[in-house]
Amino acid sequence: MTTTFDPQDLIYPFPTPAQPGMPTIIAGPCSAETESQTLGTARLLADAGIRIFRAGIWKPRTHPGNFEGVGTPGLRWLRRVKSETGMLTATEVATPIHVADALRAGVDILWIGARTSANPFAISEIAEALKSSPDTPVLVKNPLAPDLEAWIGTFQRLYRAGIRRLGAIHRGFSQFGQNAYRNNPDWRVPIELHRRLPGLPILVDPSHISGRRDLVASLSQQALDLGFDGLMIESHINPECAWSDKAQQITPSDLGTLIRSLHPREASVESEHLDMLRRRIDMIDTEIIRLLSQRMATSSEIGDYKRTHGMQVVQEARYNSLMEERIAEAARTGLSAEFMRGIFQAIHAESVKIQLGETR
Ligand code: PEP
Ligand code: MN
Repeated sequence: MTTTFDPQDLIYPFPTPAQPGMPTIIAGPCSAETESQTLGTARLLADAGIRIFRAGIWKPRTHPGNFEGVGTPGLRWLRRVKSETGMLTATEVATPIHVADALRAGVDILWIGARTSANPFAISEIAEALKSSPDTPVLVKNPLAPDLEAWIGTFQRLYRAGIRRLGAIHRGFSQFGQNAYRNNPDWRVPIELHRRLPGLPILVDPSHISGRRDLVASLSQQALDLGFDGLMIESHINPECAWSDKAQQITPSDLGTLIRSLHPREASVESEHLDMLRRRIDMIDTEIIRLLSQRMATSSEIGDYKRTHGMQVVQEARYNSLMEERIAEAARTGLSAEFMRGIFQAIHAESVKIQLGETR
């Protein structure tokens, strides 16, 4: 058996979408809570055209004392979902016991959560437990930190265990403090994953990225605009009463509306590829603007400090060393000194203006 990751060997882990060009969508509640909540949600999702149902049975929670999933008894409900609606079922596994129980209960697709996916011990144990069922599709969420190598290492371990039906789920990265999103989408990481492991399908989880139901639709469209293959969306029959992640779940009916509003992109058409690259450039530019704005806000704070301490605005030695360091740092990534000098002169000039109180 070859053990180096060969994208040619991968097998697409999902049924082909009902309509060509439509993204693969996995939907269902964050957690299976009760039999009626699970079955009730599943029936509505099946009516909305969903073909893969998700529900967490074992829930890794940040704080102890929160609902940690119903555990193995809930697998019976997933079996009922499958037999009554015909949907495939998917759940999160974190230990070899989860794998064995889920496979015994006929769960079709397993995923490895963000808290497990960067742990080589756990992944090796899960891979071992899967050796007798290597045809099981396994999806791997990104680790909590934007550690691309750890994410890739997990795919390599599963691949070495003979698993070929692999997929990734981008669910954003943990960050400190209050932010627009619960988890920072930092799209550069899944884009780089695609470059490194071409052929590996990547779904986006707008529910865990946003943490807020009102942002799920726009993030879903953004995911398709960036060329990703599908979506995993949390949907609950009664989101307000959900036992976990209630702020980000949407009703099956809202999910139906969301899906009808999506504009899928056809990546195989030449100009679509160019469009996608341009959208990536747009996204990077937005990030540059955000960082520049943060830099100027910090400059302004420095200006306040210098004013209250009677210091002059331009400190020659600091300016010279900053310029030298930035040019050397940029050179290591292949950016020319001339280009960097121009950019940092402009940034510095604006910073001085701000500190002199000429703008803002
Ligand atoms: C989930 O899918 O409900 C979940 C716990 O996700 P993550 O591992 O992305 O936090
Ligand atoms: Mn969740």
